Amino acid sequence: MPRPIQAFIDPAALTHNLAITRQYAPKARIMAVIKADAYGHGLLQSAQALKEADGFALLELNAAIALREAGFQQPILLLEGFFSIQELAVFEQYRLSTVIHHIEQVAMLSAAKRHRLDLFLKINTGMNRLGLPPEQFSSSIKMLIEYGCARHITLMTHFASADDPEQEHSVVNQLHCFKAATEGYRYMLSLANSAAVIRYPETHADWVRPGIMLYGASPVSDKTAGELNLKPAMTLSSRIIAIQQLKTGDSVGYHGLFKADKPMRIGIVACGYADGYPRHAPTNTPILINNQRTRILGRISMDMLAVDLTSIDSAQLNSPAILWGKGLSVDEVAQHAGTVGYELLCALAPRVGRRLSQ
Ligand SMILES: *Cc1c(COP(=O)(O)O)cnc(C)c1O
Repeated sequence: MPRPIQAFIDPAALTHNLAITRQYAPKARIMAVIKADAYGHGLLQSAQALKEADGFALLELNAAIALREAGFQQPILLLEGFFSIQELAVFEQYRLSTVIHHIEQVAMLSAAKRHRLDLFLKINTGMNRLGLPPEQFSSSIKMLIEYGCARHITLMTHFASADDPEQEHSVVNQLHCFKAATEGYRYMLSLANSAAVIRYPETHADWVRPGIMLYGASPVSDKTAGELNLKPAMTLSSRIIAIQQLKTGDSVGYHGLFKADKPMRIGIVACGYADGYPRHAPTNTPILINNQRTRILGRISMDMLAVDLTSIDSAQLNSPAILWGKGLSVDEVAQHAGTVGYELLCALAPRVGRRLSQ
């Protein structure tokens, strides 16, 4: 028997979440974001479950090539674009679309004029991460057209705070900046990430770029995934591999962070931070044992963690544990650990097997 930890990936949940995304943005094309190995869910199996998407977006060139070689015909957008002139031949060979986010990329494209690609010209409207400054936008477009580098041009930007209901002004400002910069141009537009898909229909435009919602985690801070009718696509599961009986005053794990104030039964689950479980998850972080909710005790180790079995008499050796997924939202675990669902999903370690669930 191998170590019992496993991530079950539910293709039906991915397909369902894509359909929900369409309900939120019925008029837009959907560019399914599958960067970081489809947020930890496995690239090709996720793309297969999301095959009705109108396009895919990621930023790893090898993954984009793998997707094309697997037969996907949709546009595939590289979110950071290309890094050298040499790469442009690969973009052309595999019909990859590219973001253009700084002027050096415009220069490289112009220098290699034989390449005609689908371009997503990204404008920095306030996030100050990637994107041409608005004042460089019209001269860049002019250059690209003059040199015949573009097959199609789409204009895009990315929101910094669409997830937070208290930062609506930030989205309004970015939208205003985008409209001012692109006024008078008649190109397709792409602005919305998952949070904007849900919260700001006025940003849907021609292409939406949902990521996290496809995987069934909530992109907004004031609604749970369940409330948004999203289904978790990853269930991280393991089993109890040891049971300990604590006496009053006994402590658990490294540094004895948890001390029993009464006799209690605890379980040791085969899952630790080397599997991608967050080391900072404190005592009281929720976990399911035998499908019943209980809590983590003490410090997370590299390969194991301890759980409270006080209220779960049925629990025994080999009882199943769910770390997150069906019945326990990854967002809730992330919140306890001081992070976001995105990080937990992406950080799932390679040593954890991913299996499709039926
Ligand atoms: C990752 C990413 C997205 C998807 O964001 P979610 O919050 O996961 O929906 C969209 N656009 C860009 C440019 C991204 O980098």
